[in-house]
Amino acid sequence: MGAGVVGVATAYALARRGVAVTVVDRQAAPGSEASFANGAQLSYSYSDALGSPALLRKTAAVLLGADPAIRLRASLDPDRLHWLLKLLRNATGGRFMANTLEGLKLGLESRLSMIALQQEHSLQFDHAVPGKLLIYSEPHALAAARAMVRAKQRLGVEQHVLDGPEVIGLEPALAGYAGRLVGAVYSPQDAVGDPHRFCLEMARLLQQAYGATIRLNTGVTAVGGDGASGWVETEGVGRISADELVICAGIGSAAVGRQFGLRHALMPMKGYSFTAPPGATRLKVSVTDVARKIVLCPLGGGIRVAGWAEMGSMDTTVDPGPLNWLRAAAQQVLPNVADYSRIGAGWAGLRPMSPNSLPRIARVAPRVSVNVGHGMLGWTYAMGSAERLARMVAEENEGC
Ligand SMILES: Cc1cc2nc3c(=O)[nH]c(=O)nc-3n(C[C@H](O)[C@H](O)[C@H](O)COP(=O)(O)OP(=O)(O)OC[C@H]3O[C@@H](n4cnc5c(N)ncnc54)[C@H](O)[C@@H]3O)c2cc1C
Repeated sequence: MGAGVVGVATAYALARRGVAVTVVDRQAAPGSEASFANGAQLSYSYSDALGSPALLRKTAAVLLGADPAIRLRASLDPDRLHWLLKLLRNATGGRFMANTLEGLKLGLESRLSMIALQQEHSLQFDHAVPGKLLIYSEPHALAAARAMVRAKQRLGVEQHVLDGPEVIGLEPALAGYAGRLVGAVYSPQDAVGDPHRFCLEMARLLQQAYGATIRLNTGVTAVGGDGASGWVETEGVGRISADELVICAGIGSAAVGRQFGLRHALMPMKGYSFTAPPGATRLKVSVTDVARKIVLCPLGGGIRVAGWAEMGSMDTTVDPGPLNWLRAAAQQVLPNVADYSRIGAGWAGLRPMSPNSLPRIARVAPRVSVNVGHGMLGWTYAMGSAERLARMVAEENEGC
């Protein structure tokens, strides 16, 4: 269930193991929800969890709506409150480090799976490896990042801390920002790619090379499983049963998967993006401004910009306020890399957040498993999560 980046990657991981796959999705095209126009960054090395001591320090600002990048929509819904408490429990220094390093392992697996996929098949989704710069304007934040880089290097990641002049040497487009820049973390292996095009290409590949069935315009109203099969109840074609049901429906998983605890395992976090034509200066490297939590990357001849985090919102309307904030923030950091007068209508999507920023890849009932909760990094983690899910299902079915 689900044809976003996680669903199509999972279908592929199963199909290449010889499983006959049917993908069911409510939209008219694959990759039409959170995977449509996200930040496009395959941030394999930047796995930093949302729950952190830094977030704890700004809890009051977030609650009062005074934080520039993170908002919380007030709600007395017990599932939402339960989720928030779990987020706070994950915000200690120890949990932040453990969750981040666990995410890094999944990121590194995802990178290898993405390379293997492209060695096997020719897919067009504006994939490139420009590397990524996480830029810092506060010395204490850079110092904390330095400690994290050392921990990540021990797990084999290629990452370097650069000072201001080194950053400008690598990405001259940041020259105008030099006065505010204290340094950056550079990850040369991080990549970019268009997630929507990826979903379209994977759906084509699944059908043509693996004989998969893709059922679009098929809304699921209920899910379940027993010892014999997993099933989805659909609006159009009634019940569809299979040997195994895998729920990969992003934030939509919460509505149908309440009996599996998905309602309080997932929180929507709304974000915005726009894609602008390139400006006078070329952007070579993918850039994340850590203080404002915005990403800018070169994507298929244009510039993709994404950011904003509004927890608790289930509404994907593009509000002019956050979109204009995003444009202004991007313009401050990299004023000449995009034509900011032509950002189009913009886009908003819902990140399916888990309290520890790690996806839940697990069996939840006989014949039913989930691959959900990829949050801010679903595009990055899709391929690795898919492999983990498929390995789990394949191992459990061995000998059946
Ligand atoms: C602004 C923004 C920027 C982001 N930037 C990045 C980034 O740079 N890098 C990164 O790694 N990640 C990024 N993300 C996160 C990433 O986009 C998500 O984590 C990822 O798309 C989640 O994929 P998914 O397949 O789980 O969910 P989705 O893409 O939402 O897919 C779920 C699918 O399930 C279907 N579905 C849901 N409910 C039902 C139902 N009842 N019946 C039938 N079908 C159903 C939907 O139609 C959809 O196609 C960003 C997200 C946002 C919003």
